[in-house]
Amino acid sequence: MTTIASALALVRARLDTACLRAGRPVGEVSLLAVSKTFGPDAVREAHAAGQLAFGENYIQEAVDKMAALADLPLQWHCIGPIQSNKTRLVAGHFDWVHSIDRLKIAQRLSEQRDPARGPLQVCIQVNVDAGPNKSGVRPDEAAALAHALAKLPGLCLRGLMAIPEPDPDPTAQAAVLGRVAALFHAIGSSGLPAGAQWDTLSMGMSADLEAAVLAGSTMVRVGTAIFGTRPAKST
Ligand SMILES: *Cc1c(COP(=O)(O)O)cnc(C)c1O
Repeated sequence: MTTIASALALVRARLDTACLRAGRPVGEVSLLAVSKTFGPDAVREAHAAGQLAFGENYIQEAVDKMAALADLPLQWHCIGPIQSNKTRLVAGHFDWVHSIDRLKIAQRLSEQRDPARGPLQVCIQVNVDAGPNKSGVRPDEAAALAHALAKLPGLCLRGLMAIPEPDPDPTAQAAVLGRVAALFHAIGSSGLPAGAQWDTLSMGMSADLEAAVLAGSTMVRVGTAIFGTRPAKST
């Protein structure tokens, strides 16, 4: 039986190896443990094994989990789509949001963020494959949204997030990941307003973290490889 601690150790070893292969310093890529659909006990186990940052897709589920884990110093990242009626919960409970794809949502988050908590750290989600049913801005819209977000006082703009479709062809996969990295660097050198801290490329999951690290990802979001296969979920 695999424990969460041993699975985490394996994922960390994969990350270190990927960094070495990419000629990047080990430890340059941070690990977000995606705990969606898993209960507080699983998060507790991962925390006991040294994991502090957790990603969640479903807002209400996440807020309930946070309440059950309020005794632990965890960092919570929202990585799922956000409807307008959920922005107050997100602004009130999360530390990061990776899934910003509309100015209106960003404005609400900024307004609803309690200044005492410090700005919400945010990434813009890019729909890099231009899949019609996928969340995220089109790549050609990302720079304009970044410049608008960087001015919102309740937010600190950190970078881009992408969920590239799995591609069995390593060359095609590398090309897509490389396009996201190129966009990340282009926006970073486009003279963003002061206040932006453009340092995060959130890309790579259980199946493609090595390729993402090679392409330049700075944060991988890993669920299945840490917690196991998720039960089917209808929400
Ligand atoms: C579920 C999810 C992940 C984790 O995916 P795994 O394949 O289980 O590692 C990462 N990012 C997002 C946005 C997700 O929704």
